[in-house]
Amino acid sequence: MSVVEKVNAAVRVAPQVTEFREYDMPDIPPEAALLKVEVAGICGTDVKFYSKPPFEGPVIMGHENIGYIAKAGKIFQERRGLKEGDMVFAEHYVGCMDCEWCHKGEYRLCMYTDWRRFPEGLRFGYTLAERAPHLFGGFAEYMYLPWNSVLHKVPDGLSAEHAGVVTPMANGIQWALFDCGVGYDSRVLIQGPGQQGLCNTIASKTAGASLIIVTGTSKDVKRLQVAKNLGADVVINVEEEDPLEKIMEVTGGEGVDVSLDCTAGAGTIPVLLGIEAMKRKGGTLQIQGEDVPDFPNFPLGKIGNKYITVKAARGHNYESCELALKQLNSDRYDIGQITTHKFGLKDTHDAINAVGGSGDVIHVSMMPWA
Ligand SMILES: [Zn+2]
Ligand SMILES: [Zn+2]
Repeated sequence: MSVVEKVNAAVRVAPQVTEFREYDMPDIPPEAALLKVEVAGICGTDVKFYSKPPFEGPVIMGHENIGYIAKAGKIFQERRGLKEGDMVFAEHYVGCMDCEWCHKGEYRLCMYTDWRRFPEGLRFGYTLAERAPHLFGGFAEYMYLPWNSVLHKVPDGLSAEHAGVVTPMANGIQWALFDCGVGYDSRVLIQGPGQQGLCNTIASKTAGASLIIVTGTSKDVKRLQVAKNLGADVVINVEEEDPLEKIMEVTGGEGVDVSLDCTAGAGTIPVLLGIEAMKRKGGTLQIQGEDVPDFPNFPLGKIGNKYITVKAARGHNYESCELALKQLNSDRYDIGQITTHKFGLKDTHDAINAVGGSGDVIHVSMMPWA
């Protein structure tokens, strides 16, 4: 009698409801592979979509996935230069591999990864679990890697848990360096000291910023201390002091070159502070934006008068992921200060809610086999 191997997965079935389901171990065609999930990082997006799913239907969440290649088809091995046993980071963007964006390594901008407008597209952590072969999220023992999955080999010497920080680290490199041009002597305002803000701090510091200011609230006391440890020059608890006054004080009244919104949902506040804190002419304001579709009395005049460039945050490209893995593998920063919490698969519900919870939590690793 043959026994079909089963894969355990945590499935979001309703807002704030996780159900455990078993799926058949998928057949792996020659051009595909199977990932044994070691770490699925959890971020603010998971917190948001666990409470307010963007669409109905069961989903295996988990979009920041590190694991070992457990099975690799022959064509997959030839094309990718990867073999069974290799540790990889799988981007959650699964590109079409044919459009101009995919050719540039900008899978995040490909129509196939735009799940809001192209439901047939595939995105790890977002795709419905009803779709065969079902294993499209990291909150499971295994994940299916189709021919067009975007993979990065994890460098030797980097642990799976530290590699699990690759997504916020890639965002830090993408937003601060590539999008906002942070470099030597830049003065940078980073609003929010969570995993995104801390990784933007590391990226800015490494790039040569001369002044890094990180803001937070009273629940962020520990996170603000970690920001200091990782290179922030000034930290501001906005509930205790006026952030604009402090920014002007530490910049000699000149303001900052770049403002980055890493608040995960503080709405219009970081946008307005960023505009006010910006230098007289020519600064760059990075926004999240999706959570503030309506913005009455938006000070467009100031954007014009101060000659501000506005940049929307939109994930990370291929190069920023490669650089992020190298950054994490260097010993210049103590990444252990960011990887604060680990959970097993059965504690998926608590793991997601932990990210939105107390101030001690910075980065949460879901480790399905733990
Ligand atoms: Zn994320
Ligand atoms: Zn494409």
